[in-house]
Amino acid sequence: MTVKSSTRKIALCVVAGVVLVGSARAAPVGVSPAAERFTLGQFQGYVLRDALNVVPNDGKVFGVDAGAAKVAAVLKGGGAPTDKVTLGVDALLIETPDRLVLLDSGLGPKAGGALMRSLALTGKRPDAVTDILITHGHGDHIGGLLTADGKPAFPKATIHMAAQEWSWIQSQPANQPYVDALSGAVKTFEPGDVVIPGFRAIAIAGHTPGHVGYEITSGKAKLLDIGDTAHSALISLAHPEWSNGYDTDAALARTSREGEFAQLAASHERIFAPHFPFPSLGVIVKVGKAYAWRPAPLRQKPTA
Ligand SMILES: [Zn+2]
Repeated sequence: MTVKSSTRKIALCVVAGVVLVGSARAAPVGVSPAAERFTLGQFQGYVLRDALNVVPNDGKVFGVDAGAAKVAAVLKGGGAPTDKVTLGVDALLIETPDRLVLLDSGLGPKAGGALMRSLALTGKRPDAVTDILITHGHGDHIGGLLTADGKPAFPKATIHMAAQEWSWIQSQPANQPYVDALSGAVKTFEPGDVVIPGFRAIAIAGHTPGHVGYEITSGKAKLLDIGDTAHSALISLAHPEWSNGYDTDAALARTSREGEFAQLAASHERIFAPHFPFPSLGVIVKVGKAYAWRPAPLRQKPTA
């Protein structure tokens, strides 16, 4: 099987239109498909590349209480353009001895997401996916559950999410296509539950009503998918105390974010953060009073 390396040049093309993500608009930018392969104990994992989301630095999403100038200073310190915040949109695919598990599904075909083409690079087919674990119901995480014509994109998969999140998704009229197409496939859980063997849902409250992370364990190997606990590897880590416009409950999200960062910096646990730079695998380290991102892919040589 061929797996493309994340280090090669990525050809970008702008996808027309914008997508509503949380409380503000972000412009998705198309990317070439990529699948970063790694090993987690007995599990075989892949990070699937879907898109980039470009968010203007206008004080409406990042640093809503600090202001665009302070956000710009952080971006400049990280060597990034100061007028926008570029986020990755990635998903995880984990193959266990008896299941093929997708964690979140990217933006979907209507927004130009590359997830299906990234999946094809792994040699797996959509109808081989047995389970999909959803961190939360925003469009950049559930958009890929449907095909362009509104059919289930992974026809044989059970879709798992927190009961509170499914209730919230169903309460919004804009989500009717998802409810119509997917209700029969959705299975809910309570945070803390082992959803399927090796995958425990972790309550990380505040981003959406039923937002969870997933702790994936195989033997002694562990990886925590933090979902949208943090969005920007630069800003969210440098200033976890700054409110984020994407969070439904900003104060609760801040408490969760600060608690998770402190714990992860102490434990050095490997995490997957779907909006950090591809392949979104690494550790959080403490730097003074704040934190920083150390990419640490669980690399395995690509095979041909
Ligand atoms: Zn997101």
